[in-house]
Amino acid sequence: MTASPFDLSGKVAIITGGNGGIGLGMARGLARAGANIVVVGRNEAKSKTAAAEIEQLGVKALPLTVDVSDKAAVTALVDATLSAFGRLDILINNAGINIRNPADTLDLNDWHKVIDTNLTSAFLCAQAAYPTMKKAGGGKIINVGSMMSIFGAGFLPAYAASKGGIVQFTKAIASSWAQDNIQANAVLPGWIDTELTQKGRAQIPTLHDAVLARTPAKRWGNPDDLAGTAVFLSSSASDFLTGISIPVDGGYSAQG
Ligand code: NDP
Repeated sequence: MTASPFDLSGKVAIITGGNGGIGLGMARGLARAGANIVVVGRNEAKSKTAAAEIEQLGVKALPLTVDVSDKAAVTALVDATLSAFGRLDILINNAGINIRNPADTLDLNDWHKVIDTNLTSAFLCAQAAYPTMKKAGGGKIINVGSMMSIFGAGFLPAYAASKGGIVQFTKAIASSWAQDNIQANAVLPGWIDTELTQKGRAQIPTLHDAVLARTPAKRWGNPDDLAGTAVFLSSSASDFLTGISIPVDGGYSAQG
């Protein structure tokens, strides 16, 4: 029988922010397709718990404590992955934070924190992964954007700038690394129920109902809603697809 084009058996994926929320949803999807997962986060206990859950799916999972905005730590992350598994096939740049404040009052340190965590981290991780993927003859990079890659919102200028940047950065590396058989694409989640948006709902009481009213699917997404797209973009099924950004949003961005 021919192998499924979505099969990831034996592949190794680094997932930043893989210890919770959307990252863990994507990790579960990749693990079910057969990939071993390097679970990256700052909170060691959370990463260990997530790795244990992923291993229940019959693959190996390695929890690593890394600040993805730190170049030396990211280099060490790739080294540790290669020491443990001997290969790196898939990189998912998912780690992210949000600090809500309009541009007239946003502190410069908060601006840098958001840009470094959400955007510079994707550059650092992709740059660190590239030599290994090139040498192996190919690889897959998935960057996580947002509805704020498309739309603006006055209360999160740094977040919107970082997520708009993710789309353009994805196109840049897709263009330069296609010749190395490395495909780079982005996913743009709609409103997904995670710790990040639970904080948002606590800060903005009207947010919950506003999202329901604006989303054609009439529900919030859950982290597992991202799994299918992550598997597709990690697998040979997407080998001629690079540089695009796919909204996974229950139709949020489809309507005017
Ligand atoms: P969570 O807050 O649940 O998860 C964020 C993850 O990022 C955590 O695993 C966290 O790990 C990790 N992280 C944050 N900073 C760092 C850092 N400096 N180094 C390493 N890891 C870090 O949020 P979501 O799951 O909602 O968000 C995941 C991604 O999806 C983000 O990029 C977010 O912007 C994006 N997104 C989310 C949407 C939503 O509706 N939820 C919508 C659109 C996009 P730890 O706790 O261990 O630090």
